[in-house]
Amino acid sequence: MSNPLSERILQMSTSATLAMAAKARELKSEGKDIIGLSLGEPDFNTPDFIKEAAKEAIDQNYNSYSPVDGYADLKQAIIKKFKRDNGLDYQPGQIVVSTGAKQSLANVAMAVINPGDEVILPAPYWVSYSEIVKLAEGVPVEVPTSIDTDFKMTPEQLEKAITPKTKMLWYSSPCNPSGSVYSKEELEALAVVLRKHPGIIVVSDEIYEHINFKNAHHSMAACEGMYDRTVTVNGVSKAFAMTGWRIGYIGAPEYIAKACNKIQGQITSGANCIAQRATIAALEAPVSNIKYMIDKFHERRDLVLKLLGEIPGMNLNVPEGAFYVFPDISYYFGKTIKGKTINNATDFSLLLLEEALVATVTGEAFGNPNCIRISYAASEAELQEAIKRIKEVLS
Ligand code: PMP
Ligand code: GLU
Repeated sequence: MSNPLSERILQMSTSATLAMAAKARELKSEGKDIIGLSLGEPDFNTPDFIKEAAKEAIDQNYNSYSPVDGYADLKQAIIKKFKRDNGLDYQPGQIVVSTGAKQSLANVAMAVINPGDEVILPAPYWVSYSEIVKLAEGVPVEVPTSIDTDFKMTPEQLEKAITPKTKMLWYSSPCNPSGSVYSKEELEALAVVLRKHPGIIVVSDEIYEHINFKNAHHSMAACEGMYDRTVTVNGVSKAFAMTGWRIGYIGAPEYIAKACNKIQGQITSGANCIAQRATIAALEAPVSNIKYMIDKFHERRDLVLKLLGEIPGMNLNVPEGAFYVFPDISYYFGKTIKGKTINNATDFSLLLLEEALVATVTGEAFGNPNCIRISYAASEAELQEAIKRIKEVLS
């Protein structure tokens, strides 16, 4: 019998981040002492003031379908957040709340991309971008960057990548996986190019906004001429340690928001009602409420950079945000370690899993074959032990 599955699904790759996390869990359940640094997930609990809001919502009998695009008062909280943190003015019709930023991204892809449309992805990019674009029958156009430009795309590179088929540009800042943050000047310089091509719609994924060690976050939508064609994606998973609550949202031109609302109306009927109520508490609270987590990530970043810096062949940028390091490990290509020849980043990541019992993610999943991603959303003790093991294997 020929394969009964659709071409669409047969051509889709499994999420490398989630696959590695599953593999690490499986090895752990077999009794192996695996340290999981593969998943981008805060190791904190959701703050109590958010949990309390969820408990209250249950007691207040929030149990019905919410409006498809989110509760009106949640949208107001999002509007205030965009104003407070990003200087952006949105109306309720421009906001859509979804089941995680992942769904926000999928909605936007479905709403905007026609078959064959090109979507520029500065690489490294977050693992799901290319698969979501392909699911919408778009064509991902990778623009490779390297550690020399702090893994950021230059305006010249953007200009060169644009063709008559370019429909969108997608990027994250702070970036998953490189931790790089585009400065206001760098965004303005990209906007200069984009202003020459008014048909290009931008997805600015700002889910790591608050995990920024220089406290200098800037939104593409705030750049001159960009508001009317930028979709600002955000969510509560990362900064509020709420990955499992599954709430993301967009601020977008109204016609895009409307289209996303229509998609959700047919596919999910909207996000979980209790999680939406909890998100109001999260967004209305001062950002200082979550500073203890950001400070910890900052300390861990410094620790990880110091410890990895002691290992030869680990070429590191200094990430200004998110909770990942993305070392260029191409120095090891062609070398044989523990009887295993390292030909690429995937071999290297597997070596670390099998010989150091440390789970990381190959850079190939993020469009960069020279690097691996290490998440430092883990305890100091785990990070120290993991890097000690990596050092031993590599020496
Ligand atoms: N964008 C980026 C850059 C991410 O790292 C993640 C992490 N999962 C997401 C979007 C999706 O987040 P969520 O669906 O948990 O809101
Ligand atoms: N965004 C996180 C990561 O990159 C969570 C896993 C996922 O959603 O892919 O690891």
